[in-house]
Amino acid sequence: MIFNTFKNSINQSLGKHQGHTIVIKREDQLHPIISGNKFRKLKYVFQSLPKNAPILLTFGGAFSNHLAATAEAGAKYGVQTIGIVRGEEWQNKIEESETLSFCQKRGMKLFFLSRASYSKKENATEVQNLLKQFPNTYLLPEGGLSTIAVQGCEEILNNEDEEFDAICVSIGTGCTLAGLVNTVKPHQKVIGFPAIQYNSIATLVNPFIKNPDFELQTDYTFGGYAKVTTELIDFMNQFYQQYRIPLDPVYTGKMLFGIFDLIKKKKWVWGKKILIIHTGGLQGIAPMNRKLSNKGLSQLYYSKYL
Ligand SMILES: *Cc1c(COP(=O)(O)O)cnc(C)c1O
Repeated sequence: MIFNTFKNSINQSLGKHQGHTIVIKREDQLHPIISGNKFRKLKYVFQSLPKNAPILLTFGGAFSNHLAATAEAGAKYGVQTIGIVRGEEWQNKIEESETLSFCQKRGMKLFFLSRASYSKKENATEVQNLLKQFPNTYLLPEGGLSTIAVQGCEEILNNEDEEFDAICVSIGTGCTLAGLVNTVKPHQKVIGFPAIQYNSIATLVNPFIKNPDFELQTDYTFGGYAKVTTELIDFMNQFYQQYRIPLDPVYTGKMLFGIFDLIKKKKWVWGKKILIIHTGGLQGIAPMNRKLSNKGLSQLYYSKYL
């Protein structure tokens, strides 16, 4: 099965930039849909699913990498999945989200909640009713910040990565950051690039880390979650042309922009050997291109992941 038999990802060089050696760990190549950190986070969830819990219920937005990965893993493992989708308006336009169409094709049952209900998560009346109907359901939180998800993310780094000074990762819930912080060596520093404006990442991740020693670089959220600018899209297209490495528009594109920008402005202070974690998420490119196209804005060149 996929979580037992996979090849670890490779480190790819991005060359030297003003004296900095930059390398990217291609976790996006673990699997086209269960890619990057979603692979790491779901691994122990699927491996430890109780035999009598035939249904896995989870949550996500209409373009969620987590929903797509869960639907795909469920299909592969023969586990029925239920996706609780944020926004009831999606009910009647599933075909407008490549992500939701994909989830449905892979057998995920979708239920659509208003934003108010969605924010209550498993306490929403609709979800409670589902749980009554299917009592053996296993609840998987959105983003998956949990002990077993962090455990999966503790397997991203290996001995060869000890040569780096800085390990860079994009942040949603901070789960991946926690796994990295728990496994770096004393001479290494993890630098997190939040994709969302947070009041306190530390409050979120502290219960899961041994030592709260990491840095945050919060200047590259580009106005918030899933918001992009033409400057960002142009950067990502240029990056693809130069390295043939696709980035996702929600997380890794923003982080890479940030790293190169900081180096260019001589504001990079975390050492000369930089390892960047490519956390995947490429399925999100197609829906982003659709949004950009609807607004008449320039799109990403590459989108064939769904
Ligand atoms: C989900 C996701 C993240 C955020 O990961 P967390 O562990 O929630 O911080 C980062 N990058 C990509 C591509 C993702 O899909």
